Amino acid sequence: MNSTSKNFEKVERKIAPLKNELLSLAEDLIAIPTVNPPGRNYSECAEFLAGTLKEIGFEAKIIKVPDELLPSLAPHGEGLPRPIVLASLTKGGKTPELHFNGHYDVVPATGSWSTDPFEPVVKDGKLYGRGSSDMKGGIASMIIAARALIESEVDFNGTISFSLTPDEETDGFAGSGFINQRRMVKADYCIIAEPSGVENVFNAHKGSLWLEITALGKTAHGSTPWLGVNAFEKILKIARAIDEELKPRLAKKVSKFQTTSPGGNTATIMLGGIVRGGTSVNTVPERCSFTVDRRFIPEESIDEVKGEIFDLLQKLQDQDEELKIETKILTETDSCYTSLDSPLCMAVVESVAEVTNKKPSVTMCMGSLDMRYFVNAGVSTISYGPGNMQMAHVENECVSIEDLMTSAKVYALATLKLLSMQKD
Ligand SMILES: [Zn+2]
Repeated sequence: MNSTSKNFEKVERKIAPLKNELLSLAEDLIAIPTVNPPGRNYSECAEFLAGTLKEIGFEAKIIKVPDELLPSLAPHGEGLPRPIVLASLTKGGKTPELHFNGHYDVVPATGSWSTDPFEPVVKDGKLYGRGSSDMKGGIASMIIAARALIESEVDFNGTISFSLTPDEETDGFAGSGFINQRRMVKADYCIIAEPSGVENVFNAHKGSLWLEITALGKTAHGSTPWLGVNAFEKILKIARAIDEELKPRLAKKVSKFQTTSPGGNTATIMLGGIVRGGTSVNTVPERCSFTVDRRFIPEESIDEVKGEIFDLLQKLQDQDEELKIETKILTETDSCYTSLDSPLCMAVVESVAEVTNKKPSVTMCMGSLDMRYFVNAGVSTISYGPGNMQMAHVENECVSIEDLMTSAKVYALATLKLLSMQKD
């Protein structure tokens, strides 16, 4: 048996009796309704997390996004504070550094819940509550893994650090975006506790470009439509061109990264999430707009994605002198990936296999994650955590308690592998 396995046995013996602690930590976090938007009770949650990390031996601090940056970084935030918890613990040399990241904000509890979403309930081996899966359960598992590593007094060499951030659910500019833009995370590796499922690792995610396309027409009375330019008929034309010309091209763009849903690894475009226009039945509409949700794969660049759609819109305008189009970029999110054969990805995959006795799948997340901020800052990053994406954002969100324990073990074992003192 090698030294990592021996050390892991010791840590695993520590984790097992911490099951109730893990559960109550997740419950305490769920009970703080950090609803975003607008971002309520963040300070209470950040203080609780910083306090918990200090108690187990970390140096922890809370930094705040400067007030003057709030309007641009957190436009939905109603001026409420954006605190970020940063913590670290070093043993032996400072490097390598393994960083754990989690977002403590949750989406609003809409839909019809059978219990109060902010009063956690345990039933049939599952913990129910908003954020149980996405991703307060994962944060609790990471903290318990760190605690077991410290209390078992096993040898490792390097730094374990944490960032617990707000605003992931609203693009993360004032959370993971802020700390990475300021290069506050200088780790070699980063694990994010997004709910990948305990037998699956996310090593990539898609990017997104959201647009609003508006056609500008000329109003006229409904009885004399020939005197106006019908903006609705113009958006039909634009939508048809996207559907007939662009869509078939996108369907051929298939990523080498697999997804948990078959066919999820193709580039897609979805039209009409929001459609606006017209004022009355008998008035030729002057303005009509529809939104575009374009999801792209890591093999495409955001500039290429924009160029493709803007070129098509230009071509349509060149062919029709009555056609006037306004476009507005609502949001743009980069894609990213970390190689399968990177030390981080291999260490996490091996750890999952050892803990669960099953070889995990390694897939691309179809939605966007904070992972891009770390990868773009040069930090090798993957996402792994309890729960699953189908549970995120839905009513009666829950996570399996066994999965919380499994994740904690995987985090601990991956830490030992990455910060291992002896070469096995
Ligand atoms: Zn999340």
